[in-house]
Amino acid sequence: MANVLAHIEISPNGTIANSAPAVIAAAAKLGTPIAVLAVQPESGAGLVQQLAEFGAQEIYFAETPAAGTVLATAQVAALSSAAEAWSPSAVVAANSVESREVAARFAARIGTGILADAVDVSVLSDGTPAASHSYFGGDYSVESEVTGKPAVITLRQGAMEERAPTSSPKVTTATLLVETGSAAVIEQVRTAAANTGRPELRGAARVVSGGRGLGSKENFVLVEQLADALGAAVGASRAAVDAGYVPQSCQVGQTGVAVSPQLYVALGISGAIQHRAGMQTSKTIVAIDKDDDAPIFDVADFGVVGDIFTVVPQLISALEARKN
Ligand code: FAD
Repeated sequence: MANVLAHIEISPNGTIANSAPAVIAAAAKLGTPIAVLAVQPESGAGLVQQLAEFGAQEIYFAETPAAGTVLATAQVAALSSAAEAWSPSAVVAANSVESREVAARFAARIGTGILADAVDVSVLSDGTPAASHSYFGGDYSVESEVTGKPAVITLRQGAMEERAPTSSPKVTTATLLVETGSAAVIEQVRTAAANTGRPELRGAARVVSGGRGLGSKENFVLVEQLADALGAAVGASRAAVDAGYVPQSCQVGQTGVAVSPQLYVALGISGAIQHRAGMQTSKTIVAIDKDDDAPIFDVADFGVVGDIFTVVPQLISALEARKN
């Protein structure tokens, strides 16, 4: 089986990012998954058990003081040295802001192509790794491959449900010399206080989004109440963002966040193609809108034609009653 590198993102506090299980599962679909991590010297041991549970068959710890002190450079160097050692057919990374940059820089460095924002991966009959993408609001499914080697693939968070079986990985640790002369230095890391207590939109298992139909910032609280009743993240259409109901970080769609949750609930969102581009790969879509012609119903698994201010409070009451 071909070797496949799985780039594992580490947060500033040293924990493994929650994209890792899917990244390793995608690598396992393409071959033998090798988890690659740039870590501070002697800090990898505590991560082995978790990576074994995610199904990594080998783990490569590239130890360098540059990990966590400069942006992307250490991770790109770790992938480059792993690529030399394992000659992979593909490299898989999350489609997060940080991993996307690492993947793109690595691809540019070794002169290969990048398949961005994949929703699935597969091996073609001739053994070439390929990626599936969802375009134009999910109206088109595209399969892509690169002519160079390895294929560098970034995986949309939440898109792949499969998980690799737990393994007993072989661990390789090496000291990595990283040239940081021109790298962007991390001077300070500040964690933005999660003042909502809700899941992060990107990668959330459930999302409740509101649109212009909410009518005002005050009314948007209805979206938050339903999100809390479902334990969901809060999203929004661009119209709701432009109207100032919620910050831009909540925007779902072509120019916002692309989500693939198990459940996506759209409230007062018409379903313009630019919105659908960011949510159509959700597993189950529920739409509530008063216009039975709204295009959101074309992609919804369950639709309610009605006034959100009537339907949603009833829905919240029913959910609360069920909990009790
Ligand atoms: P509307 O289209 O106005 O829909 C509001 C809906 O609410 C209607 O269906 C209406 O029937 C319903 N409604 C009103 N009152 C009630 C009520 N009381 N009860 C129930 N239903 C009610 N949009 C995005 O969302 N994300 C993007 O990333 C994005 N990127 C874009 C990029 C470009 C280049 C462009 C040109 C546009 C982009 N847009 C994006 C904008 C997009 O085209 C739409 O304008 C936007 O999605 C509309 O938002 P909406 O559905 O909330 O508003």
